[in-house]
Amino acid sequence: MLENLEEYTEKLIEEFEAISKDAERVQKETLRSILEENASAEYLQSLGLNGKTDPESFKAIIPLVTHDDLEPYIKRIFDGDNSPILTGKPIPAITLSSGTTKGKSKYVPWNETFLDSGVQILHTAFAIRDRELPIKNGKCLSIVYLSAQSQTKGGLKLGTIASHVIGNKRYTEAMAAIKSEMCSPQEVISAPDFQQAMYCHLLCGLIFRDQIQLLEALFIHSIVQAFRTFEQVWEELCNDIREGVLNSRITIPSVRAAMSKILKPDPEKANLIHKICTGLNNWYGVIQELFPNAKYLLAIATGSMEAYLPSVRHYAGELPVVTNDYGASEGWVGTNLHPTVPAEFASYTVFPNCGYYEFIPLSEDAIACVDPKPVGLTEVKVGEEYEIVMTTRTGLYRYKLGDVVKVTGFYNSTPELKFIRRSGTLLSINIDKNTENDLRLAVVAASKVLAEEKLEVVDYTSHVDSSQGLGHYVILFEISGEASEEVLGECCNSLEKSFVDAGYTSSRKVNNIGPLELRVVRPGTFQKIFDHFIGMGASPTQLKTPRCVPPTSTKVMQILNDNVLNKYISTVFN
Ligand code: AMP
Repeated sequence: MLENLEEYTEKLIEEFEAISKDAERVQKETLRSILEENASAEYLQSLGLNGKTDPESFKAIIPLVTHDDLEPYIKRIFDGDNSPILTGKPIPAITLSSGTTKGKSKYVPWNETFLDSGVQILHTAFAIRDRELPIKNGKCLSIVYLSAQSQTKGGLKLGTIASHVIGNKRYTEAMAAIKSEMCSPQEVISAPDFQQAMYCHLLCGLIFRDQIQLLEALFIHSIVQAFRTFEQVWEELCNDIREGVLNSRITIPSVRAAMSKILKPDPEKANLIHKICTGLNNWYGVIQELFPNAKYLLAIATGSMEAYLPSVRHYAGELPVVTNDYGASEGWVGTNLHPTVPAEFASYTVFPNCGYYEFIPLSEDAIACVDPKPVGLTEVKVGEEYEIVMTTRTGLYRYKLGDVVKVTGFYNSTPELKFIRRSGTLLSINIDKNTENDLRLAVVAASKVLAEEKLEVVDYTSHVDSSQGLGHYVILFEISGEASEEVLGECCNSLEKSFVDAGYTSSRKVNNIGPLELRVVRPGTFQKIFDHFIGMGASPTQLKTPRCVPPTSTKVMQILNDNVLNKYISTVFN
């Protein structure tokens, strides 16, 4: 397939041009093929689709669903029933979603078609981006961790999406050919201890520092986390390179064996890295300095990841931070075809042959209708917000993904979507309704107050506290240094002023909701939360900080409560 790379990438671009110019027809064709392939599925038959494959019949007969609606079907698949339940052919594997967006992991059906779409989307994106940010014959520092796969009760493969995709040989070989080879050996990528894997990823990156052209992760959080660790362990890394001996903190035999093949004594390199590190001002630009031939940093940097952009840019220096693709354990949506646009303004172009997409309008007019009708991929309007509904080749039909996007434009006839937030309300006490995005905007406003003091919000979360009767919002910040009482009081007021929904402000004015509280937690608190989730089996590659702690997360709440340094109460409505 990849013998002639140039021919292959040109072909990919041509194919994408063709499908994006003809998105409406491609969508109909995609739906037809999904429904034909799965005509025998019990789910479709029981709803009476009777082999129909046109969009009109499909929308009239098949209801919109959420994961909860499909759970009984997925459970049967999980338990080993291989009759055609959701798909015509048996489902070979189950994906465990990160679950940090809703506080609970979901099981989602997976098959090779997910990989086919992934290869198409990621390869096309590379081919297109390569025109602006070319990468040639280099290596890639990929900060990924593959949790081991296990088996479901019924013997199906069970793993995270990263393990199904990045762990797949067909995928890695194809990616190595099109972009660059990962510098870390497979034993590091799939090491059972992610702290040890992170140390070795950093070491591999340094060993091959001159060849590294790309640094990547699934989410930018992993890059920030790796370089926070680098700040702590850089001298040990230098020692390893100087002596050619791996630090004793790495105890996994397979990882030690794999690392010993690439780690050779190199005092000159160790001294150079040491000099670079000691010459930096507060680690600004460390990535750029350590990897002089890197072209860019690639990882999802939108949505809840935007919070880490200041930190990642601090480490990256002048190196561009490019947001990657948009998808979920359930299926792919699109990719970023404009690598030079800053992540805050980035959009994802939908691939019209990867699934059948519908969009529930969320404009005020639409919400005024009791039951707003979803519109098709090519019927969306620029500037409007929608909730995404997808129909996939893995057995999800008219499935509400739970994400809200805004249409920013069209690439030929297929839309470009900006990720806005998870759907639904994040913070609510009575008539107030604030979403994940409302909270994010409030944090951005408060961050500006801190930025004047050269401080950053390292991470944040929130919850509603009704323990004293009158409920109020609690926002928790971990901050990059010490701020004065005055500045933090101002941050707290800035947060409260940013929640402008009428339900909130009117309730605050009559004191039906108590004053907002800012709690500042100790450095490292969010790492403890991260470690807690990893301990519960979450994937370090996919984990996202919950932006609101559900009352059921008693352990997370306890970590937060145990680490509060100071509390500030808003005086905005005094
Ligand atoms: P998971 O449930 O672990 O499969 O995570 C999928 C969810 O991650 C999506 O539904 C989105 O909410 C979020 N996500 C994935 N890609 C992006 C992106 N490019 N920008 C913002 N959020 C994303």
